[in-house]
Amino acid sequence: MKPPISKTTYLYGMQCHKRFYLNRFHKAFANPEDEQTQLIFQRGTDVGELAQQLFPGGLNAQGEEKYHSEKTVLRTQELLVQTEIIYEAAFIYNDVICAVDILVRKGNNYYAFEVKSTNGVKEQHLDDAALQYYVLSNCGLNLSNFSIVHFNRDYIRLGELDVKQLFTSSSVIEEVEARQKPIAKNIADIKKLVWLKKIPDVEMGAHCNKPYACNFSEYCLNLIPESERELEEEVEPDTAIRVDADAWKSFREDFVFPLYFFDFETVMYGVPEYNFSRPYQQIPFQYSLHILLKPNSKLLHKSYLGDGISDPRRDLIEQMIGDLGERGSIITWNITFERGVIAKLAIDFPEYEKELNAIQARLVDLMPPFRPNWGIVYSEAFRGSYSIKNILPVLVPELSYQELNIQEGGTASFLYGQMALLEPKEREQLRVDLLDYCHLDTLAMVRIWERIESLVK
Ligand code: SF4
Repeated sequence: MKPPISKTTYLYGMQCHKRFYLNRFHKAFANPEDEQTQLIFQRGTDVGELAQQLFPGGLNAQGEEKYHSEKTVLRTQELLVQTEIIYEAAFIYNDVICAVDILVRKGNNYYAFEVKSTNGVKEQHLDDAALQYYVLSNCGLNLSNFSIVHFNRDYIRLGELDVKQLFTSSSVIEEVEARQKPIAKNIADIKKLVWLKKIPDVEMGAHCNKPYACNFSEYCLNLIPESERELEEEVEPDTAIRVDADAWKSFREDFVFPLYFFDFETVMYGVPEYNFSRPYQQIPFQYSLHILLKPNSKLLHKSYLGDGISDPRRDLIEQMIGDLGERGSIITWNITFERGVIAKLAIDFPEYEKELNAIQARLVDLMPPFRPNWGIVYSEAFRGSYSIKNILPVLVPELSYQELNIQEGGTASFLYGQMALLEPKEREQLRVDLLDYCHLDTLAMVRIWERIESLVK
């Protein structure tokens, strides 16, 4: 049976037989690969190479080829007798090929290390590791331990990256040994798929996103007949808005003018980019602030955006302290997020602790009245959601994210992480797009506030 099943495609088969088959025989049907997916893949590779520094002096079994192949397997066999540390050591057994990021030999015993760009061991890592253990041990390796190397969530970068502190490893040998029994049968089932003459019939469902979103979703969606899709289309909901005026007035009694409508954008780096930051810490790089000094006064706007190269936090804190003044409510949409970011800034920059704590004490949340269980502002057209992206089109239809180049926070965060790599012209355009996006986030809060105020008059 050629070519062998890789670890990735075995896991596709475990998720869905159709995904395995499409990936093997109809790769062209896959969703177009977006830039974000490619970057996540690249970052994973970079982290794997960084972790090799934990075991210096090893030899790499992988050659020029992008994926592990029979050549890597042959090179691994050569390296097993030459060195005690092998990177990307690949093995093949029962038509399944897989590699481990780092393989260490001590005497007759082997220790396998698989690197993951996460802050801990996830359930899906165990299925990965179980297959690797199955292949390696059936190839005759005496595996004394199997560990997942992942980020140490408590590591704080101070100066040069300390790779030994950045990573930590967790043994999963017991879990992977406990998962061995079904593997041979799983492989046999997947192998049978290779001989099918047509694409297996699998309906879409919850499994399409577990543990990862399937890259054939567009193909499968298009296979749902037009007639069925029409039936699935929901009836347009009623856009009428119902406001409990007394409850709204009592809710907003705590809001003190000037009103500061405020929103952060943040970015997370697995490998901390800056001093005093941890793996996957939320680093605020941008904010937008709309200010209403008093009811019906002219709306003011201020903003901050980092340069994408240096640590934005100190400049952001200093400007934010000035922009937010000393009195008035700071209105957020989901206070937990802004409060958490400010609390972290106060820990990492204790010289501003007093001012940041004062800002925290003035935070209020505009979101709760829109929660279905609060029911102060209700419309069937919210569809049970209280995300500002769903509330805005119902309450303020003339304001929309649709025209913007960036339409949601995940994209803003991803693109900011790329900013340093861009040419000056592209960087300037990205700055404009980021400023436009965050501006709309706070303008949306202002217009929602005004709309409700006009309804309860
Ligand atoms: S979208 Fe769902 S049903 Fe279709 S191949 Fe992927 S996992 Fe299978």
